[in-house]
Amino acid sequence: MLSVEGLRKSFGGNQVLTSIDLSVQTGGVLALIGPSGSGKTTVLRCLNGLEIPDGGRVGFAGGPAVDFGSPVGRKQISELRDRSAMVFQHYNLFPHMTVLQNIIEGPVQVQKRPRAEAVREAMSLLERVGLTGKEDQYPHQLSGGQQQRVGIVRALALKPSLLLFDEPTSALDPELVGDVLHVIKELADEGWTMALVTHELAFAREVASEVVFMDGGVVVERGHPDQVLREPQEERTRQFVHRLL
Ligand code: ATP
Repeated sequence: MLSVEGLRKSFGGNQVLTSIDLSVQTGGVLALIGPSGSGKTTVLRCLNGLEIPDGGRVGFAGGPAVDFGSPVGRKQISELRDRSAMVFQHYNLFPHMTVLQNIIEGPVQVQKRPRAEAVREAMSLLERVGLTGKEDQYPHQLSGGQQQRVGIVRALALKPSLLLFDEPTSALDPELVGDVLHVIKELADEGWTMALVTHELAFAREVASEVVFMDGGVVVERGHPDQVLREPQEERTRQFVHRLL
């Protein structure tokens, strides 16, 4: 479904991603773990076209890979952007828009879908995450957990082939984490393909089909969750996992 080869990214003179190889199978869940500053968020942002990589190839099944080693046009970036949707750590809802407006903005304004259809789908998605009746509220009237569930619905409404979650629970009060993880687990069980940056290693073990451990902008170890999280082969992975599990 998604394959990434040799992804590189620097900010100024700071090489943040050195040569990242990843793949996600259709219906698979990739969990990206690693210490703060290891480059996990930057990987997601490169996949979503929020950052432009300096090199490497990103390809989705059914389309040509985008090769960032040669000049890349705006059309290729926007095709890449259309394939995935991101759920952000701090929700990133538009504060001046209601819940419903937040959700239908992308489908109506960007994807040019009929408004009535977008509203119908938004209402049904809100129902499935337990937010019926919240459609006319503004983000500041909701709890963090509710805002993040709106963030998830906003991503789903775009019908992406790949869902990207960037530490979706790390800004939440502990008692609100469970509801959001529950929604993500349900989406995984339903067969959504996703890449998830998380510090919740127990959740990664439960939900992921593959775990990638990054440190210092490289992939140190990747494999089945049982292997990477229970029997890591690399010392750096072992130390990280033992601190958090
Ligand atoms: P965390 O777990 O703390 O979110 P991370 O593994 O997601 O960390 P990134 O956010 O990808 O790490 O950051 C990797 C490195 O890239 C950091 O050193 C960060 O300061 C740097 N960086 C990220 N974005 C930018 C940017 N827009 N400009 C300059 N440096 C950046």
